[in-house]
This record gives sequence, C-alpha cells and structure tokens, in this order.
Amino acid sequence: MTRVAFLGLGDIGSLIAAHLTRDPFELVVWNRTASKAESFAASHRARVASSPSDAVKNAEVVITCLPSSVEVEAILHGEAGMLESLAKGAVMIDCTSGDPPTSRSIAAELGGRGVEFIDAPVSGGTTAAKSGSLTVMWGGEVTVFERVRNVVEAFGKKIVHAGPVGAGDALKAVNNALLAVHILSTAEGLAVLVKAGVDPKVALDVINASSGRSNSSENLIPQRVLTRAFPRTFRLALLDKDIGIASVMADDLGVSTPIISLTAERFHSAREILGEDVDHVEAVKIIEQENGVEIK
Ligand code: NDP
Repeated sequence: MTRVAFLGLGDIGSLIAAHLTRDPFELVVWNRTASKAESFAASHRARVASSPSDAVKNAEVVITCLPSSVEVEAILHGEAGMLESLAKGAVMIDCTSGDPPTSRSIAAELGGRGVEFIDAPVSGGTTAAKSGSLTVMWGGEVTVFERVRNVVEAFGKKIVHAGPVGAGDALKAVNNALLAVHILSTAEGLAVLVKAGVDPKVALDVINASSGRSNSSENLIPQRVLTRAFPRTFRLALLDKDIGIASVMADDLGVSTPIISLTAERFHSAREILGEDVDHVEAVKIIEQENGVEIK
C-alpha cells in the first residue's frame, strides 16, 4: 500500500482525491473547512487529518491542490504546517496551478530536508477529473516522478514531462491564458453577430466547422452560455490568477504579449465586478452587459 496525504478538497481536488481511495492507496485527507473533509470521508475510504502536519506525518506521497502557490506556502509554514512533519524520502506532488518561482523555492527548501517536489498542474476540468483522465503537465526530475507514477496515473491519462520544477506551472498558465483569450474573443465575435441579426446557434454551427473554432466555441459557449446554465466548475478568480501568472512570466522574460496583457486586465476587472465565486465562463456576461446583448 502507498500512504498518500491529500490536502485541498475543492472543486477539482475532491474529484482527484476520490481516485486514491482504493487499493493500492491508503488515503488521509485534510481540508481547511473540516466539514468538507468529513463529508468526503463519509462516502470514501479515507481518514480525516486534523491539520496539515497531522496529514503528512506518515505519508510517502503528499498531494496539494490549493488555489495558488501562496496557499501552498501557507500550509507548509503556517501553524500546524506540513514542513516539520514531512518524512525524509517523501515526495510532494503539487497539483495546484502554481507559479514557477514559488514552486522552485519550495522544491529547494524541501530538497534540503530530503523531501522531493514536483509541480503537476492538471487540465481537462471537472469532467476529466471525475473520469480519471486529466492531462498532467509536470516539472521535476524523472527519477522522482517514476517513484510516484502509479499515483499520478490513478487520476491522469495524458501525462507529460514539461521540464524542470516550475515548467508544469509555466505551461499551465499559458494554456489558461489561451483559454481566457478564446472565451473573450469568441464572446466578442458572437456579440457582433447577434447585433448583426445572426442567430448565435447558426453562427457557432458555422464557426465550429471552420477555422475560428476553439474549445470555447465548441463546448463552453454552447453548453453554458446559450443555455444560460453557467455551472460553477472552475472559478473565474482562479483563471484570473492563471492569466496573471502568464503575464508576469512574459514580463520577466521580456516577451511582448499585448493580447495576453489586455485579456488579463479584462479578467481582473470581471473578477472585481462579478466576485470570487462565479464560474470562469461568466466573464461573457461583461461583454453582454457592455453591449446590451444576450448570446442565446
Ligand atoms: P476551489 O476554489 O474549488 O478549492 C480550493 C481549495 O483550497 C479548497 O479545498 C479550499 O478550502 C482550499 N483553500 C483555499 N484557501 C486556503 C488556505 N488559505 N489555506 C488552506 N486551504 C485553502 O479550487 P479548485 O479545486 O477548482 O482548484 C484547485 C487548483 O486546481 C487551482 O490551482 C486551480 O487553478 C486548479 N485547477 C482547477 C480546475 C477546475 O476545473 N476547477 C481545472 C484545472 C486546474 P475550503 O474548502 O476551506 O475553502
């Protein structure tokens, strides 16, 4: 049996953790809001830990899935944090969409204590998380990954080595910046077409058979905007964080990215207007409001 600790049972974390509740895994879970961990353990084979420190003390593999690297740092160093309790020889897999510099500094600090670290953000959303077919982009040493491959394969299908520690985070941030660009650009285009008198269903039928298509036009907008369902699967606040990471990376590397920068500004203001709890696709509502149209 592999002893695994999982910290962060949010929208996607709880679905990833569910794949580790059967043999050959022995799972301990911790969540800031304890009631979520208790209800998880009521329906899955898992023990609830009382603190991050309690969760990791016997773990061979520690998985974190928190909003950003800031919270990962906080549960390492905060009160009853993990740092002092991590066992020598343990491997920490951070499934947070984190930021590369923080992941590198965590890896260096843990390395000094004989604990290995890989950043392993995921994509595919809650649907792929449920079916255990996430894409996992990981950064770190191959020899470390091989020790935890069976754990990652329990929830990932396409598993790709992005490079050294931080490379998984970098790739994830840029992927999500592209997602954000596609959501806004597709909604802008559809707003124009609605005003021009074209039915958005007809417009998408053509776009999705043509070169303007994307996951936003093929899936997100038909399933969530035209239906006005707007289910909450991935918070807009988290996508805002991801585009922010991509923007900072571009600045640090001296790469000119005006489209990503403008999209970052637009998502940041959407977050201020719509709040912390709405889904990322609700950013479309800002374009609808500005233009007095509904895409439906
Ligand atoms: P949620 O916002 O649903 O959950 C966040 C989790 O972090 C909760 O368990 C929350 O605890 C915990 N948390 C928040 N703040 C703190 C803190 N200060 N200290 C300790 N724990 C804290 O996020 P998701 O599960 O959606 O996302 C997790 C990560 O995965 C993010 O980095 C996100 O960008 C990424 N991701 C998400 C996808 C999705 O479809 N949802 C897809 C791909 C990546 P509590 O219950 O107490 O609030």
